[in-house]
Amino acid sequence: MVDAVRAMLLVCAVVGGGAALGLITRHAFSVAFWPANAILVGTMLRAPHLHRPAGWFGAGAGFVLADLLFGQSPALSGWFAAANVSGTFVAVLALRRLASRDLRLRRVHSVMRISVGLLPGSLVAALTGAVMVVVQFHGSPTQTVMTWTASEIANYLIFLPAMLTVQPPWRRERRVATAAAAKPLWPLLLLAVSCVLAVYFDGPGSIMFPMPALLLCAMTYSVSTAALVTMALGSGCMITIGLGMVDIGQDLSIPRMVVSIRIAVAFLALVPLTISSAMAVRDDLMAQLQQAADHDGLTGLLNRRAFEHRLHRRLEASANDGGLTLLWLDLDHFKSINDRHGHPAGDAVLRAVATAIEGCCREDDLCARLGGEEFALALVAPDAQAGALIAERLRSTIAALRIDGHGTAIRVTASIGAHHLDHWPVDPPALLRGLDEALYRAKHGGRNRIEWLDADLTRQAA
Ligand code: GH3
Ligand code: MG
Ligand code: MG
Repeated sequence: MVDAVRAMLLVCAVVGGGAALGLITRHAFSVAFWPANAILVGTMLRAPHLHRPAGWFGAGAGFVLADLLFGQSPALSGWFAAANVSGTFVAVLALRRLASRDLRLRRVHSVMRISVGLLPGSLVAALTGAVMVVVQFHGSPTQTVMTWTASEIANYLIFLPAMLTVQPPWRRERRVATAAAAKPLWPLLLLAVSCVLAVYFDGPGSIMFPMPALLLCAMTYSVSTAALVTMALGSGCMITIGLGMVDIGQDLSIPRMVVSIRIAVAFLALVPLTISSAMAVRDDLMAQLQQAADHDGLTGLLNRRAFEHRLHRRLEASANDGGLTLLWLDLDHFKSINDRHGHPAGDAVLRAVATAIEGCCREDDLCARLGGEEFALALVAPDAQAGALIAERLRSTIAALRIDGHGTAIRVTASIGAHHLDHWPVDPPALLRGLDEALYRAKHGGRNRIEWLDADLTRQAA
């Protein structure tokens, strides 16, 4: 009950605010914008718990209250609210059928799918609203349906993508926020310059002036930023054209012209949004590809290539940010585990060891499966003693593992070759050779033990 009342009040406030904003502009400009329906649809999709009778009742109340506040008669307020609620309800039902990746604009065809999904709702709102306009104001049915539908589509395409993609600051990952902060500002500056030029030149072509800069923004920024920029530009277009700041050379009292402008602005929004979605898809795929290329499929640890590359990069870096302990690890008698318990049980042992290794690694450490039953770690450790503690913890953790092999507990141990680097440069091949030697000594010294490499490899590099 409390939840229902809360949902009703919340939706009522959100919709009432959006409708009031639309009504202010309707009184001020001839080419009004109406963000309320997009805000309502976005809210219902982002917060599905509000998509309930109480939420929709709140939406109706929000529309009615805003209209009454701006001097509309109760009958007209009620009818327009019915048009808006029925249209948005159909739009929400249609968009709820889309995949969540589509609603976040993370697929190439997302914008197209959303646009098509918005058509039935736009038509329902237009047809319902048109009945009142025709009965009350004797307007032309075709013209009313056309202008209303065009307005619905334009407003949805301008406001809904931002509603669907923008994360409130408290839900944004810090990593994402820093990445966004590092983006260049010049595409936005270029957009501002092209808007000034559009205002200066006027004419029907001026609507397209910002397109190149808008495309650059879509290629540079995240989907949500591109959606915000498109929203600002779309509503800016409506306002400047409505106020006559941009004279497109057409008589805005002719309904066909208004429809034409609304469609132009809607389609202007489609292009950057689609490009930005396609870029996001590419970025996601690149990240997946990089993840697959750098990681071992069985354990999820780094693979040999990625480990060696990252280790070389760290050793080549001139600044030594603390010591590095290197561990080369080979499981003991692993072949016999496979022979006795089967290959799948051997795989389970490898995964359990990988989990134990990960447990010893912190964010800056590197841990890898080099292949077969060999693993490597590069641990940030201030001195050899600290590194030795971690190595011993890892050895004993692996020795304490009991992996289920069809009812029997499989035990495993590891031999470890270790070396601590206090300073570098170091010769990486000499380092790997040295670790291999230490590992060999560990194997021949009885296994399940750690052998340290004594040689000063930094001297070899000099
Ligand atoms: P040592 O103590 O001398 O290291 O003996 P070992 O048996 O561990 O060494 P050996 O090199 O003879 O055997 C390694 C085995 O690891 C042979 C191979 O079948 C097995 N192996 C390699 N890759 C995988 C894998 O991905 N899964 C499983 N289950 N076994 C693997
Ligand atoms: Mg081996
Ligand atoms: Mg082995």
